[in-house]
Amino acid sequence: MNTDKTYTVKGVTGDWEIVVGLEVHAQVISNAKLFSGASAAFGAEPNANVSLVDAAMPGMLPVINGECVRQAVRTGLALGAQINKWSRFDRKNYFYADLPQGYQISQFQFPIVGEGEVVVDLGEGRTKTVGIERLHLEQDAGKSLHDQHPDATYVDLNRSGVALMEIVSKPDMRSPEEAGAYVRKLRTILRYIGSCDGNMEEGSMRADVNVSVRKSGDPLGTRCEIKNVNSMRFVMQAIEYEARRQVDIIEDGGMIKQETRLFDPNKGETRSMRSKEEAHDYRYFPDPDLLPLEFDDAFMTDAKASLPELPDAKKIRFTESLGLSGYNASVLVAEKENADYFEALLAEIVKATGKGEREVAKQAANWVISDLFGHLNKSGAAISDSPVSPAGGAELLKLITDGVISGRIAKDVFEIMYETGKSAAAIVEEKGLQQVSDTGEIEALIDQIIAGNPGQVAAYRGGKDKLFGFFVGQVMKATGGKANPQVVNKLLRKKL
Ligand code: MN
Repeated sequence: MNTDKTYTVKGVTGDWEIVVGLEVHAQVISNAKLFSGASAAFGAEPNANVSLVDAAMPGMLPVINGECVRQAVRTGLALGAQINKWSRFDRKNYFYADLPQGYQISQFQFPIVGEGEVVVDLGEGRTKTVGIERLHLEQDAGKSLHDQHPDATYVDLNRSGVALMEIVSKPDMRSPEEAGAYVRKLRTILRYIGSCDGNMEEGSMRADVNVSVRKSGDPLGTRCEIKNVNSMRFVMQAIEYEARRQVDIIEDGGMIKQETRLFDPNKGETRSMRSKEEAHDYRYFPDPDLLPLEFDDAFMTDAKASLPELPDAKKIRFTESLGLSGYNASVLVAEKENADYFEALLAEIVKATGKGEREVAKQAANWVISDLFGHLNKSGAAISDSPVSPAGGAELLKLITDGVISGRIAKDVFEIMYETGKSAAAIVEEKGLQQVSDTGEIEALIDQIIAGNPGQVAAYRGGKDKLFGFFVGQVMKATGGKANPQVVNKLLRKKL
């Protein structure tokens, strides 16, 4: 269901529509590079992970890394895309200082993965389907270091030859928001299946953003490509700036030149880098050192079997089988670690209480999202570093269900659990936080409160229903928040 709001750029001649397509380069998780045995790890000393193949020494031959191929196929399957059982590597020829081969081994006419689609979450129940044009495997280039010496550029070849998946979307996005949400969803899927770590700060995922503008219903306008944008926020900012720039040029009577541009995050601007070369300038031709890739059915079956439950399927299960709201389900499935924690918690609660999953799911989800995530965010910790385990969380929630503590007190108990690592039961015991459910004790307090507030009692009995909350508050105050709210409500209604 596409229920997206229409986003436009306002011009003096009226509204303009933005058309966006993305080419996302995602680094494959693998120990070795695409065509050599050198390590693909990030952060090593410059030029520590460079084999003779990566340095393009004469006579060296590339050897395909099967794991990278498998990861590309798994990714294609996770994107619901067609897997091409036959594909081929081509050489893309160009000169660059950090590309010693003088060409990049890539795929052109025959990519490993064909068309697919991604359903993108836009919040408030809005979704959008973005088409995938293709996914191909290629090697990364090295890195030029311009900031190491006042008048020289150094070259680090650690990244040279690392496997990339280039995931090309169709020009289906119509707003910065849709593009940002698409990158986020892609990242979620790749992290779920473990084919890319999605670490945009380390450059494991970077987007080339194609932007054009047109009047609604017109054919596509001339596009500009903004290279290597490395955060979701920058993707959105770059689109917004670039669309405005193009509209202003066209409305001034100018023409858009097809070109490659760079986004400057400090200024929030895009600027020209080079005019776009035509594809034939790369002189693509089949790499004579590599055989085409060919898959049999067993390979495909194994790849499919290795996929975990994907975020869309998980979300449906969380809403339909567990009865969670769409919003809560979306939040929980956005990161696999979060969903895993939630499911582990659910299993612990079921084990401890003997209740059904569906009965306890809502409480568990609310606790994870508001209490646990709230604390993790505040302390900047990842869920894998949570000081409170799923079993610890389950113990706390069971104390509420059993009426030992109120939901209100549970928040204080959790605070202490989070800081000290102590168990919920130990904290409740130590601080004497057990809920007061003894009707006799509460009844006596209510009698005192009624006697002490004759004015309010008269007003309540005269029809001022809202005063009920006042009485609840008085009882809670008298018990330090420990009175069982159900018991208080019941007794107050009776006595008033
Ligand atoms: Mn590429």
